[in-house]
Amino acid sequence: MTNKIEYVRFLNQDEISRYLQNKKATYIQKKIEVNIAIQQNDILLIKEYEKFEIEIIEKYENNLKEFRRNEALWKDKKCKCGVKLRFYTRSNFWGCPDYTNLEEEHITFKEDKQQKEKFDYDFSNVKVRLDKDWCSIIIKRLGLITKVTAKELLLFYQSIGFDDLREKYDYKSTLTTISTYEYANKKSKKEEEIVRDFLSKNFRVLSQPYVEYKFVDQQKKICIPDLIVSNNDQVFIIEIKTHNFYINEEQLQLYYNLISHCQAISNDRRNLYSIFVVNEIFESEYTNENAILINDLVKLKSKQEIIEFLQQNKFQ
Ligand SMILES: [Zn+2]
Repeated sequence: MTNKIEYVRFLNQDEISRYLQNKKATYIQKKIEVNIAIQQNDILLIKEYEKFEIEIIEKYENNLKEFRRNEALWKDKKCKCGVKLRFYTRSNFWGCPDYTNLEEEHITFKEDKQQKEKFDYDFSNVKVRLDKDWCSIIIKRLGLITKVTAKELLLFYQSIGFDDLREKYDYKSTLTTISTYEYANKKSKKEEEIVRDFLSKNFRVLSQPYVEYKFVDQQKKICIPDLIVSNNDQVFIIEIKTHNFYINEEQLQLYYNLISHCQAISNDRRNLYSIFVVNEIFESEYTNENAILINDLVKLKSKQEIIEFLQQNKFQ
């Protein structure tokens, strides 16, 4: 680690309350400012929405036209240049006899059955396309990135009766997509309780401590590890995620360095480990070194078994 730690300390209950109040106040203040910016730019934002929708429809119509044009050429067995296509038996495709004439644009088709399948597939892909972050695109175009957030903008559009464009063109609603990450985080709270309750039968468990830390020449920051589990010989930092997809190795590395620093200061010589505990693991990414499953953990019977299991599956 290149950054040198200046200090690490655990916040007490009063400090945590104050920190949370501040954070909430900042959040509310930010939301107010965003909405003021939206009101100040409402006409621009409405125009850009309308422009954006026209653009995605134009793109769709062009794609559809292009698709129909090619399909008609195929049916007539005609090249883009107007010459009658020829079937090349040896290579199994339709091509233009005049393909060496580079002044014109030409086309080729696969053998009829394959080409038909390709058209069917391509047609299923001809649709109005728009990214899930279409609101961010609008914000960026208007140079409002630092002032307006996608979520508030979407709520604004809906409040004046405009559609969520994703929903309108048969995608999942934009808000659902924006909230997926928040939801994944929320859900891990329940998992955290299961792990905490299980481990507190045999260990001292510190749940979600607010840890303030500062690197030399940097601003102080606060982080919140999920669980710090300890007994007389070991300390385990446990980070709980719904899914190994959300594993953040840098984050756990940071917790390890901070707790390790605290131990050094207080001359605490217990062995330190960091472990990821997850509810689910993508099978394709299954690696036992990276994470343990909650189900595997909670079926362990003895304290010694748990310690060994955690040690064997440590991240660090
Ligand atoms: Zn041609």
